[in-house]
Amino acid sequence: MGKCGVCGKGGEDVSLLFARHRDLGGVWLCSDCWRNEYSKIVPSGSSGSCCG
Ligand SMILES: [Zn+2]
Repeated sequence: MGKCGVCGKGGEDVSLLFARHRDLGGVWLCSDCWRNEYSKIVPSGSSGSCCG
């Protein structure tokens, strides 16, 4: 699948979420980094998913 664009974590046990990061652009993030970087993630206007 891929690796987290911030910490490099990857593998079958790690669920990655695609995020549009203000500094990094489009990256895959693990749930930990998703939470850490949340303030820098650009919300996608078209997608209705929220608040997972
Ligand atoms: Zn990570």
